Amino acid sequence: MDTYEKIIGLAKRRGFLWNSFELYGGTAGFYDYGPLGAMLKRRIEDIWREMYVIEEGFYEIETPTIGIEPIFVASGHTRGFSDPMVVCCGCDSAFRADHLIDGIVETPDALPAPEIKRLIDEHGIKCPQCGKTGTFGEVSSFNLMFRTAIGPGTERVGYLRPETAQGMFINFEHLFRFYREKLPFGVTQIGKSYRNEISPRQGVIRLREFTQAEAEIFINPRDKTHPKFSAVGDTILRLYPASQQEGGSGAGVVGGTGGADGGITEIAVRDAVNQGIIAHEFIAYHLVLTNLFLERVGIDPARLRFRQHQPDEMAHYAIDCWDAEVLTDRFGWVELVGIADRTDYDLTSHTTHSKHDLSVVLEYDTPEQVERIVVTPDMGVIGPRYKEKAGKVLAALKNLKEEDFSGDEIKVEVDCETIAIPRDLVEYKTIIEEVRGEKIVPHVIEPSFGIDRVIYAALEHSFAEEIVDCETRTVLRLPAEIAPVQVAVLPLLTRDELIEPALKIVQMCRRSGIFVSYDDGGTIGRRYRRNDEIGTPFSVTIDYDTLDDDTVTVRNRDSMAQIRVPVTKLVETIHEMLRDPTKFIIQSAQ
Ligand code: AMP
Repeated sequence: MDTYEKIIGLAKRRGFLWNSFELYGGTAGFYDYGPLGAMLKRRIEDIWREMYVIEEGFYEIETPTIGIEPIFVASGHTRGFSDPMVVCCGCDSAFRADHLIDGIVETPDALPAPEIKRLIDEHGIKCPQCGKTGTFGEVSSFNLMFRTAIGPGTERVGYLRPETAQGMFINFEHLFRFYREKLPFGVTQIGKSYRNEISPRQGVIRLREFTQAEAEIFINPRDKTHPKFSAVGDTILRLYPASQQEGGSGAGVVGGTGGADGGITEIAVRDAVNQGIIAHEFIAYHLVLTNLFLERVGIDPARLRFRQHQPDEMAHYAIDCWDAEVLTDRFGWVELVGIADRTDYDLTSHTTHSKHDLSVVLEYDTPEQVERIVVTPDMGVIGPRYKEKAGKVLAALKNLKEEDFSGDEIKVEVDCETIAIPRDLVEYKTIIEEVRGEKIVPHVIEPSFGIDRVIYAALEHSFAEEIVDCETRTVLRLPAEIAPVQVAVLPLLTRDELIEPALKIVQMCRRSGIFVSYDDGGTIGRRYRRNDEIGTPFSVTIDYDTLDDDTVTVRNRDSMAQIRVPVTKLVETIHEMLRDPTKFIIQSAQ
């Protein structure tokens, strides 16, 4: 059994994850979160909210999970949101063509279809289903959006959203007004996204319905300095820059660890920005924030890296793109988060398709005095002389610059024809005008988190098996703040005199907002193990001493150390330890 199998086994047995629709045979790409899974998910989302919504001040919005067709025409999803697909004519199974050549080239998803097919043939790739070779047809393009019809009939085409982002872009005008017409500002959305993945054989890693937590940060393209960058500039990240990857230029990274770990360089983000490795401070700031979040929810820093997209892998409009990737036992490096500078692509595209100008005027701190020429043509002459072209001549004249008025004639281009207008038919003067601001299309920085993958990675990185008292102890070393059950309350024996005070402690904890499970079945050792396996950070045991001195034993999941705490101080102690588990170590040393 590899780690993935062990974790999925545990997750199913203990109520974290279940295959959806199992009663009817199930289908790949869908998972249910059971009672512990749903709690874990909620806690991880709440940490994300705390960091992005509360600390960064990026308000959260909620938009429909179905979108109408024009949105996805504008976003490019109807044309370009597809994966290369190949079908085995031996068994009719469909596969992600690029996944079949994983490991042969570093970024197979960046290759054109004929090249993928050539590599499949050249390397004699076997069909993973029927095991035959030479049975694959041509590589085609499969659009990943779920299409549906809105209302009766098929008139109004809709799609289940493939990302939460578009709901934020199309609300840009409302949001800009909400944020008092100032940049930068950020907005967030946590919700379901849908992608009709071709062959989701990677369990919870590749789902057809999954949860994204996305932030769209709208910035002034002329100012990519981040207001809080100086506070995070010294943070060392594990970067895997495009130049260090196969096919990259290989240019060295100055001051990093030199790519000893498979091209990964540990470098301060300030240096990475100064050396042009990370495009600018906004991206760097969000790499740091992503790193903080991932470590906080239990990702092992030694199995985390930020991989930069190769130029041919990145969307054509993007300036810089990084994936936060984690190392997993079965799937190798897996992307959990994408962080991209999407430039003005989204707003410009929605402007073109909706015919609604989404540019904004950014007011200067103090209005600027600008010279402008005002052109006054003699329309009494120009009108009859140029007849139907007179309107276009007038428009062309208004666009002229001062130097265009130097000769005896003024030349303008109308319908590909140069028209010379006598100088004395046009008067012009230079005026000084007050300009209050500048018109721009904001650029977008987008960190996009896949919550389900974060959950799986947190489970895998916190999973441990160790031998205790000649038995294997399985333990999920989840950070206390994401553990689904925070405290297990356990009477030492199933006796009324111990059950009664134990139930009182359950009530006391619940009233103070601590999520408690009560367990009085089996030996105390077995109950500790049951709670270790689901990651419960603390267990409270009520024994006969409790009846004498009103104290209980609190046991730490990771060290298995125990401290004695007065019942009157229990709630306060648990809250402190949930916030900071090292408090347990301090207390047990006292
Ligand atoms: P993308 O928009 O493709 O950059 O996706 C953003 C994030 O969503 C990724 O980093 C993944 O964590 C997550 N994600 C994308 N596709 C899937 C999927 N099929 N199943 C689960 N998570 C996904």
